[in-house]
Amino acid sequence: MDLEKHLLRRVGEAIGRFRMIRDGDRVAVALSGGKDSLTLLELLVRLQARAPVRFSVCAFTVEQGKFLRPLAPLAEWLHSRGVPWTCYRDAASFQLLEDQPDHGCDLCSRYRRRAVYEVARGLGANVIAFGHTADDFCEALVRNAMFTGRLSALPAVTWSRDREFRLVRPLVFVTEELTRRFAESLGAPLIPCGCNQKTGAVREAIRGLFAQLQQQHPYVKETMLAAMGRLEPARLLDLRFLNLDGEPAPETGEPLVSIVTES
Ligand code: SF4
Repeated sequence: MDLEKHLLRRVGEAIGRFRMIRDGDRVAVALSGGKDSLTLLELLVRLQARAPVRFSVCAFTVEQGKFLRPLAPLAEWLHSRGVPWTCYRDAASFQLLEDQPDHGCDLCSRYRRRAVYEVARGLGANVIAFGHTADDFCEALVRNAMFTGRLSALPAVTWSRDREFRLVRPLVFVTEELTRRFAESLGAPLIPCGCNQKTGAVREAIRGLFAQLQQQHPYVKETMLAAMGRLEPARLLDLRFLNLDGEPAPETGEPLVSIVTES
């Protein structure tokens, strides 16, 4: 498999299907220092030259005092790639670390979100791109169904509260197995982060479940993604979508079948 071609096709499909990027957009990629957001940035840079719409790309990182290594190698690598990058040291988060070393994730995330909007605004961006992958979507679906009582995953596209920013997740159809291989092929420096939001007990259990299932069913995540794009509300229990009087069901859009069938 030509990895680059495959990734560009999947990201292109997500961008086109959900109208993530539109003509004239300025896209700011939120770089976390990990393989996923770095893969996203590189793919968007490569897509710029061949996409049917014109858009510009920049990158930023919010430093909240959680990185386990210096960011300098990342800065050098981005510079060598000609990607404009801003490192935003969020003073409020550092203060939080000092005042409440054991603060919870809610507060930390709220500070991060505020910083993300501030830096994107400063960069003149109208779109913020995040590196959540197909794995994140699948895990969120299972986690929400099992632990929050809601059938939901992550938004592929959403807006900030006042519609100042379109928030997009173009790696929705890309698994982490592929971002790992692609990031390795780039030779880019990865910066580990002390944030263990992704490694809680529930997440670990769900990841383990997927790993086990994938031994026998390698495309289980792709199938779940297809399911997210092909709801059958009549077979669920939400009264808002049930047709109790036998009226014809409304037409639905084109399902995500290609994600399951493409190699
Ligand atoms: S685990 Fe992550 S989100 Fe939670 S407080 Fe630590 S850095 Fe913030």
